[in-house]
Amino acid sequence: MTPLIAKLAWGAGIVGWYVIRYPHQRRSRKTPIASRRERMREYVLLAISFVGLFIVPVIYVTTGEPRVAGYPFHPLLAWVGTLVFAFALLLFHRTHRDLGRFWSVTLEIRQTHQLVTTGIYRHVRHPMYAAFFLWAIAQALLLPNWVAGLAGLIGFGTLFAFRVRREEQMMEATFGDAYRAYAAHTWRVVPGLF
Ligand code: SAH
Repeated sequence: MTPLIAKLAWGAGIVGWYVIRYPHQRRSRKTPIASRRERMREYVLLAISFVGLFIVPVIYVTTGEPRVAGYPFHPLLAWVGTLVFAFALLLFHRTHRDLGRFWSVTLEIRQTHQLVTTGIYRHVRHPMYAAFFLWAIAQALLLPNWVAGLAGLIGFGTLFAFRVRREEQMMEATFGDAYRAYAAHTWRVVPGLF
């Protein structure tokens, strides 16, 4: 493992992420929406997340900047980062498969929305966000730069912090007792932890 291979592994992870998402994004555009929440606020949060998970690391990978924030490369960290990214992709794929047509980029309820409580959603309410956190952790392990490495955790962490409660409120307002019962026996992100 070399710094260049670590950067390529990061790039391959991004490409894999996009390949998994693409068909769902296309289908999502065709699925009628019943209601939306705070779209502007959601787009600002998405932009913050995108800067941290993509723009800042892409600048580092292509230019080496910001150089002052660099630290020595450790092959072992990069190997672990590659494994974490691979696991994140598997989890991301499963969440998309299990959530199907009810997935959306911003907070939305579809016209035929149903509460999904099976598959991976049986154990955690936000497995897709768990996959994004794993991506951010992989980024920190693969890129030996404090700014580019940690930008993903800060960017996605901001989106998560400002979104998760609102998403749960929206689900509760839509599905009522069914969602409250579901929430009572599931974890938010990591089973057994939180
Ligand atoms: N927070 C979830 C889903 C992310 S996609 C995760 O991390 O896996 C966001 C959209 O998914 C929301 O707009 C909501 O409409 C939908 N959603 C979230 N949880 C759901 C569930 N259990 N069943 C059906 N739709 C859900």
